[in-house]
Amino acid sequence: MSQGIENKVVVITGASSGLGEATARHLAERGALVVLGARRGDRIDALAAELTSKGYSVVAIKTDVTNRDQVKNLVDTAVQRFGRIDVMLNNAGLMPLAPLERLKIDEWDRMIDVNIKGVLHGVAAALPHMKTQKSGHIINVSSVYGHVVDPGATVYCATKHAVRALSEGLRKEVKPYNIRTTIISPGAVSTELLEHISEKDIQAGTKEFVSKIAVGPETFARAVAFAINEPDDVDINEILFRPTAQPV
Ligand code: NDP
Repeated sequence: MSQGIENKVVVITGASSGLGEATARHLAERGALVVLGARRGDRIDALAAELTSKGYSVVAIKTDVTNRDQVKNLVDTAVQRFGRIDVMLNNAGLMPLAPLERLKIDEWDRMIDVNIKGVLHGVAAALPHMKTQKSGHIINVSSVYGHVVDPGATVYCATKHAVRALSEGLRKEVKPYNIRTTIISPGAVSTELLEHISEKDIQAGTKEFVSKIAVGPETFARAVAFAINEPDDVDINEILFRPTAQPV
């Protein structure tokens, strides 16, 4: 693995907006070779074209993280294109908040499929390459809601607790292969995350609260860059950050 950020091959899921997009920009500007995955192919194609026109190395591959073959294709294509994968950022996620009693069971399924199984698909796709390389770095995105549980956010919190649990198990299992693992748990960051809350009363209340305190997505991008940039013998296992004004 190369040191620092420059020339590292970084695969990012959920790169079409919010945290993933900001991280793609930040890492490309710092010399990483970035591979973007998301379902909205037009968005990642446009981002790749914009960054490529500035002289950065960025490739976009339309990917649904609930489909394990598509995630494998994302990672395998990165390896074919650039010769290796240094960082897998499992970032894709969604947060359709609602109390359990509203029985939004399709949304529970969706959160489990994207927030948990999507991360596992990313691990499954990256791990064989990283084992062979005897190097690599898997970064999984949890949340403050991976540390606390709030009423109305129960299933989302469960998925983000699961991300922390599987990341901690992964950390212990990949020691023989010189693979680093990082969990990043953001607090409120302004992105498109709240747009997918289907319950309009909950969406309005959450937007009102979040809009007062949220920080920009480059905050997250800097946290990712910090973890990646540390020397190879330093494994930044967990980063939890909140807006200074966030009480929960
Ligand atoms: P956005 O809604 O802006 O971005 C979510 C990204 O996930 C999009 O790029 C979307 O792309 C992608 N995505 C959703 N479903 C799928 C899928 N099935 N396959 C592939 N990509 C998918 O929200 P954020 O940037 O805020 O969210 C990024 C991560 O950060 C999530 O895991 C979220 O839970 C976490 N997080 C966010 C916080 C915040 O305050 N913003 C706080 C704590 C954690 P597309 O629709 O094109 O597929």
